[in-house]
Amino acid sequence: MTERVIVVGSGPAGLTAAVYTARANLTPLMLQGFQLGGMPGGQLMTTGLVENFPGFPDGIEGQELMARMQQQAEHHGTRMVMEDVTEVRLDRRPFGVFTSGGTEYQTQALIVATGATARRLPIESEKRLWGRGISACAVCDGGLPIFRNKELAVIGGGDSAVEEATHLTQFASKVYLIHRRDKLRASKVMQDRAHKHPKIQLMWNKTVEEFLGDKMLSGLRLKDTITGEISELPVVGCFEAIGHEPNVGFLKGQLKTDSEDYIVTKAGSTITSVEGVFAAGDVQDRRYRQAVSAAGSGCMAAIDAEHWLQEKELV
Ligand code: FAD
Repeated sequence: MTERVIVVGSGPAGLTAAVYTARANLTPLMLQGFQLGGMPGGQLMTTGLVENFPGFPDGIEGQELMARMQQQAEHHGTRMVMEDVTEVRLDRRPFGVFTSGGTEYQTQALIVATGATARRLPIESEKRLWGRGISACAVCDGGLPIFRNKELAVIGGGDSAVEEATHLTQFASKVYLIHRRDKLRASKVMQDRAHKHPKIQLMWNKTVEEFLGDKMLSGLRLKDTITGEISELPVVGCFEAIGHEPNVGFLKGQLKTDSEDYIVTKAGSTITSVEGVFAAGDVQDRRYRQAVSAAGSGCMAAIDAEHWLQEKELV
């Protein structure tokens, strides 16, 4: 049997695409993912209260939000399979989609919504204190009460790190920007912003050796990369801004990606380099990386796929 549309990934982008394609009577099949590139439900399954998703004035727990999105997609007729996609064949029509369970599916249209994974420091204490003062998203978590008027740290040296640090200055009393080299990789404009901001203090040639704290983060143990000197920095919040890895391994280079592996889409759409394949959410968005922007592009991908199927008279 050939599917009309398969959605890969069950984060906000994939589930929104599923709701829309289901309501357009395309009876989508969703390959939710299992362990490659996250988990079913996506990144919000790993967080607590989400305070910026519209419609929930008191916030909503990440897991509950994703459970509701899944219920909505199923309610309208999406079929769910909790497996990873290990490979696709985009050089033939219908496309071939292969899963970790050993099944090969065929589909006319494909929506890729596999997200991006935040790079994290491979330190044992980081895992223990993740979500307890350590985060990878200042826009998501920076405004939480535990961080207000407190000293915070950002790790990284690129544009994102400076953006995160600047965002945090709205809440924090001070933000340390910790970088392992002696100059930032960020663009000139962003560098100037970091240098001039009265609340941002740059800490050069430092790496994090240890995250300190029992139940919550209370500080960082730093090592000077030149002198080897160890010091401690008392902060209650630390934001890792060391990059994201789009989950595109299963595509094996069959879609055009940019220099950082984000899928390239045609401006103002979700159209990719292969006709009939659409990309939504963080896997094609290096800039916004928010649940609501992912959901928005999931809606766009569903509408783009529906129009394409109609144009090709495949529905
Ligand atoms: P994801 O949510 O990453 O979902 C990707 C999906 O693809 C997953 O289901 C995964 O299992 C699946 N997948 C990956 N590879 C494969 C494969 N090979 N085969 C099949 N499936 C696969 N945003 C906000 O707006 N507000 C917040 O408060 C907020 N808090 C956050 C807190 C944390 C700790 C993190 C990490 C992120 C947070 N974000 C927040 C960002 C938000 O979670 C993401 O922008 C959003 O989840 C992106 O949605 P997505 O659907 O593109 O991808």
